[in-house]
Amino acid sequence: MSQLKDFLAFQSADLQLQHTEEAIKNTENRKRFSRLHKQLKDMQDNIAKQSAELAQIEAALARLQAQADAAAKRMQMESAELDNLTGDSETTAEEMAEFIRDIEHLDREWAALEREAHAATAGVKRLSQEYNATRRNAARIKKEYDEVRALCETEKAQGAAAVAEAEAAVAAVKSLVAPALAAKYDKARKYFPAPVVTVLGDKCGGCKMSLPGNLLRRLGPGNEICECENCGRLLYLE
Ligand SMILES: [Zn+2]
Repeated sequence: MSQLKDFLAFQSADLQLQHTEEAIKNTENRKRFSRLHKQLKDMQDNIAKQSAELAQIEAALARLQAQADAAAKRMQMESAELDNLTGDSETTAEEMAEFIRDIEHLDREWAALEREAHAATAGVKRLSQEYNATRRNAARIKKEYDEVRALCETEKAQGAAAVAEAEAAVAAVKSLVAPALAAKYDKARKYFPAPVVTVLGDKCGGCKMSLPGNLLRRLGPGNEICECENCGRLLYLE
């Protein structure tokens, strides 16, 4: 009888330890910390994405500006050439007309490039604002994240004392249990938080499978502890 009593006391102390460990993992601060961690990660992804978009549109803008500058320069040269042709008496009206068409074409090209450059500039401005807003948000969340992390560290340190106490209680009762039985408990404990269960009628109190007669007889009067052949939990008769 005393073996069973010690064995149940061992499981009880172990459950208390699990409870203490769980409580440390699941505090409000821990939950907040997980949420902030995810938010921060999302923001960092956003920052990287927005930064890449910004670099892309800035490069496009630089290309457009270079093209617009080149077109403006060509127009200047053509205008100077037009002045020359106008002063030259040998220039035919047809030549003049063609030259003017060229200049007009260049002028339209330049105007289109300018419009595109304007749109790109507006895009850069909008993206920069978004990017800066994201960075400000990320900084705010990082600050909160650091604060909550410090709170969690404090809780963890406080919890460590409670865990150590619960562990000592487990060790004390475990020393009263036969080593072979304690080893069986440790094995079953890998699969079940509470591996010791009672027999309910003729069924395992854990998996609810019917137990064979010979096992039930062994459990009977001597308060023996047997393994359930189906689930591996440790059975006893109340
Ligand atoms: Zn079972």
